[in-house]
Amino acid sequence: MNVLNKLNPLKRFFKHPSDRRSHRFIMVIDCILNQNSRDLGAANYPSMNKEILRLCMQYDIGLFQIPCPEITFLGFLRKRKPGQSIRDALDTAAGRECCRNLSIDITLRIQDYINNNNKILAILGGNPESPGCAIHSVSPNTGCESLAENSGVFMKEFHKALCKQKITIPFRGMRDCRPDWIKQDLKWLENLFNQ
Ligand code: SF4
Repeated sequence: MNVLNKLNPLKRFFKHPSDRRSHRFIMVIDCILNQNSRDLGAANYPSMNKEILRLCMQYDIGLFQIPCPEITFLGFLRKRKPGQSIRDALDTAAGRECCRNLSIDITLRIQDYINNNNKILAILGGNPESPGCAIHSVSPNTGCESLAENSGVFMKEFHKALCKQKITIPFRGMRDCRPDWIKQDLKWLENLFNQ
């Protein structure tokens, strides 16, 4: 906390006349903004999902990029034992711990943003088969109880870390592996931005 906020904790809730921020942003997995972080063969765009970026620009929504959990734990080449799947490599005690630590760091950051009058509209994850970032909801759109067991290893840890702090933010996979799915997901996102 800086000195001014210490002197006047209410200061952060008043908008400075020259400050143009929207106070609204979303959190996206690494590869939504950088397809180069995907495993070899898995990139669906040359650089990024431009449709998500276009919506954010249109509705003045900021973006927070979550570091790729697979690269964080396994490195760019997803190094693992011969024959072992990425999911099995990530879903180990060490892999889950790595995802948990990453989740705790990001959750602390989220708490700080929320305490300072920001609204995080959504957490956008990956494709249904993503070992780290798949999002499968028991009941779609939100709720601390709603992330299903077959979701990605990182997303489950992240969801738990947020629930522990009683922070509820909608989770949604951006399923760019199929044109009809990503169309539905973009529509969901635009509806959310319109609320
Ligand atoms: S682990 Fe997540 S961020 Fe990394 S490439 Fe896969 S879906 Fe993207």
